[in-house]
Amino acid sequence: MEDLSTRKRRAKRIFEILDPVYTMDKTALEYRSPFELLIATILSAQCTDRQVNRVTKTLFGKYRSPEDYMKAPISELEKEIRSTGFYKNKAKSIKGCCMELINRYGGRVPDNMEDLLRLPGVGRKTANCVLGAAFGVPGIVVDTHVKRLCVRMGLTENNHPDRIEKDVERLLPTSRWRRFSDILIYHGRAVCKARKPAHELCQVFHFCPSNDI
Ligand code: SF4
Repeated sequence: MEDLSTRKRRAKRIFEILDPVYTMDKTALEYRSPFELLIATILSAQCTDRQVNRVTKTLFGKYRSPEDYMKAPISELEKEIRSTGFYKNKAKSIKGCCMELINRYGGRVPDNMEDLLRLPGVGRKTANCVLGAAFGVPGIVVDTHVKRLCVRMGLTENNHPDRIEKDVERLLPTSRWRRFSDILIYHGRAVCKARKPAHELCQVFHFCPSNDI
């Protein structure tokens, strides 16, 4: 593994080059409150943001509070979110989450990692996503794109998302954590795709140790 200062320099260059390329600076999920963002983020596992937004357009009109989700029969909720995939697990997580929000947090979404991680179906990725977008708390969101790109870019040697999060946190100032995750997600979708990375189109080709895979 390269030393920390080499990885820091590379992360800095990658940030500076890709930051102006991907100008959308908000998550593509649509929401009007931390609660809606939490539900949308749970639905976004293994699903595109576009499809989640299609589903939540109706869903958020019908269910406005944790109580509304609790009152709905699970079969009905499953039907509403079916097209996002893994709908049985997601419906269970949403129900469990809403119950915890009501029982522990007065129906409000907590604004800290520790409490968010107590909610069913909420891991560090979801928690970081909610904390960053809804409460402005810095964090590295390690989804499938961030994981793949950090490994390819030589920013980590780890494969576990929690370890990757810690590794990348050491490379950039706190103020850049959230934006760096978003940049990598956009770059992973547009250029550095899982099956066939488009090296020839890549703006950070010269800094990437995997530019010949
Ligand atoms: S050079 Fe290739 S592997 Fe490296 S970031 Fe760009 S597309 Fe991905």
